Amino acid sequence: MQIIEVLIEYASHTLDRPFSYLYKGQKKIAPGFRVLISFNHRELVGYVLSVKDSPLSPQQLEEEMGFHFDEIVDVIDESPLLNEDLLHLVNQVSEYYLAPRISVLQAMLPPSLSPRRSSLKAPKIAYDQYVIINNYNEDNLTDKQIEILRLIQREKKILKREIGSPSIIKKLLDNERIKIVLSEKRRLSLPTYTYEKPPLLTEEQQKVIAEFNQSKDEIYLLEGVTGSGKTEVYLSLSEEQLKRGKSVLMLVPEISLTPMMMEYFIRRFQNKVAILHSELTPAEKYDEYRKIARGECKVVIGARSAIFAPLENIGLIILDEEHVESYKQDSQPFYHAREVAIMRGKMHGAKVLLGSATPSLESRARASKGVYHLLTLRKRVNEQKLPKTTIINLTDYHNIDRESYIFSLTLRQKLASVLARHEQAILLINRRGFSTNVSCRNCGHVFRCPTCGIALTYHKSDNMLKCHHCDYVEKMPETCPECGSPYLMKTGFGTERIQEEVHRLFPQAKTLRLDSDSAKIRQKIPSIIEAFRRKEADILVGTQMIAKGHDFPDVTLVGIVLADIGLSMPSYRSSERAFQLITQAVGRSGRKDKVGEAIIQTYNPSHYAITYAARQDYEGFYVKEMGMRKLQSYPPYCYLASVTLSSKKEEQVITQAYNVVDFLNEQLGEAATVLGPTTPYIPRDHLSFLRTVLIKYRDYEKIQLTLKRLIDIYQKKASINLTINIDPYNF
Ligand code: ADP
Ligand code: ZN
Ligand code: ZN
Repeated sequence: MQIIEVLIEYASHTLDRPFSYLYKGQKKIAPGFRVLISFNHRELVGYVLSVKDSPLSPQQLEEEMGFHFDEIVDVIDESPLLNEDLLHLVNQVSEYYLAPRISVLQAMLPPSLSPRRSSLKAPKIAYDQYVIINNYNEDNLTDKQIEILRLIQREKKILKREIGSPSIIKKLLDNERIKIVLSEKRRLSLPTYTYEKPPLLTEEQQKVIAEFNQSKDEIYLLEGVTGSGKTEVYLSLSEEQLKRGKSVLMLVPEISLTPMMMEYFIRRFQNKVAILHSELTPAEKYDEYRKIARGECKVVIGARSAIFAPLENIGLIILDEEHVESYKQDSQPFYHAREVAIMRGKMHGAKVLLGSATPSLESRARASKGVYHLLTLRKRVNEQKLPKTTIINLTDYHNIDRESYIFSLTLRQKLASVLARHEQAILLINRRGFSTNVSCRNCGHVFRCPTCGIALTYHKSDNMLKCHHCDYVEKMPETCPECGSPYLMKTGFGTERIQEEVHRLFPQAKTLRLDSDSAKIRQKIPSIIEAFRRKEADILVGTQMIAKGHDFPDVTLVGIVLADIGLSMPSYRSSERAFQLITQAVGRSGRKDKVGEAIIQTYNPSHYAITYAARQDYEGFYVKEMGMRKLQSYPPYCYLASVTLSSKKEEQVITQAYNVVDFLNEQLGEAATVLGPTTPYIPRDHLSFLRTVLIKYRDYEKIQLTLKRLIDIYQKKASINLTINIDPYNF
């Protein structure tokens, strides 16, 4: 008999400890297996932490321990899900982010392998049937049969369904001339690209590569202006690792937005590449995951969670566009792929390379202090000049076009000339939908989401009001629900409205729209991008999605319709976000052989985030913004942690939030500054009221224990929920 310690699938802190069960069955069982258990009369999935043999009988054990052990209902897996170093990583991530271990496992594993009940219904292995020769012998066969037998002999192994002629195959199987072998199927079909020799590297690229290869440092920041050829550097460094017998992990923020990156890697490394990201089907993910675990692919490209890919012997981990916030998971365990990459890199003795034209302030500051090794690419490949940028002051009436509320005279005229030259333009507005605010003229009622409390956006195409935070939608009402007035006012504009405005002013122009609306089926994104590259449209209208690393050779104009949107967000990162977005968007203009132009429309023409972005001056912005952060004492001058409380009762959440502030102040004293409680920007979550307490600190070790105690206290309170987010972005 064996005593099995398991973690239960519920991701709560109370249950984040081993529960003991007995196993008397015959199946193989070991740490890292999933098992089916009974817990409080419910059948749940558990994750095995340890297995001990016991010489005692169940009765003896019960007498000795003083309680009854349940038996494991069944063993699910045939081999452990994680190797040693991933198991170790689970503990490290859970410890740093103060998250239940099971939540880390659930973030780490594809749905089919996840330790949760739903995984049992998820797809498992699929096989292809191949035929091979069993006993080559042409006696007593018809001509047709001989023909097929020879074909199989020649090819050695053929997919059964590709041969056709099922009756002949059956005959050959019956008289044992051939036999069937199963081979695991790969349900994801990757596009094929023919291998291309790498281009001759520029002097700057060569220098960066040599410096990287010669250095013994662990973490690098590659700061390279847009179009400076960072991808080629990634490819070249990856190739070097493969030559040394190491594997490579390549992370991108969102793979469907960067199909080019995948193409570059497949072109160079062919079938050594595996892909892992959230838009694969569970079946595809499962196949890719297992393929990687079997060691068949040495290069993995994927989004955030690919940082947990079961690669062995990693030599290099790359995070492209390292500043992008989607690298941070905004639910439990709230991990950031960059921090996990650094943990994993240490374990493997691998180098970590962070790349961006606009690095996050934290990373750039660490590079200044020598924590990261700074590498720079200052020039665009082909020495192409950066785009000529004009800031349009929307508060100056000279700039206003009386024909259009949306485009200034300059932007409208530039669009006209791009169309006349048969080139392409991109229009960016970081807001989707038609109108971003709907209210009643009579009583002032604002339409808000009933679940999370933020203003709803009007979408004209389907005449709906939609919440951009949760899934809530309702039909656009005819009258005000408060006072019955039919006079409803729609203000603020988004992508849908801009597209309509383009059609109104330039009826002959063909447009495409890229936002998470038109891309509801996310698979459509690459085809929209492709269509625009093929010049099937003149103007692409979109949200920040269009600013991400695409390379459109014929785009000579980028118009940022309203640069101020990000700046008005209540976050210490709002200037940084606005700067990054504008810089990246402007960088889309004039990439091949044509000089590009960019127009930035704004009500804050002298805001430093806008003026530095217009000049594509990252270093200038960095110095200025560091000054601001220092003044206000925000990262990178301190670290942050947020404690969020939620409850169905608003009074209770307020009282408890003040208790948390008192507790933290008392425990932490000088070690931290405690701010709040405040109502977060998204004030509700599934009808629960939220309050947030923010902690600013310098030494994590000094606050970690206190936060653990806080978790302990609150896990006993049933009506209130507490979550901790280390290094939060939104609060
Ligand atoms: P970044 O990611 O730094 O913005 P990219 O990697 O997209 O820049 O490179 C910009 C363009 O330059 C791409 O079309 C790429 O294929 C091309 N390129 C990069 N390096 C070279 C090189 N050494 N020789 C010729 N073309 C290059
Ligand atoms: Zn009203
Ligand atoms: Zn909502």
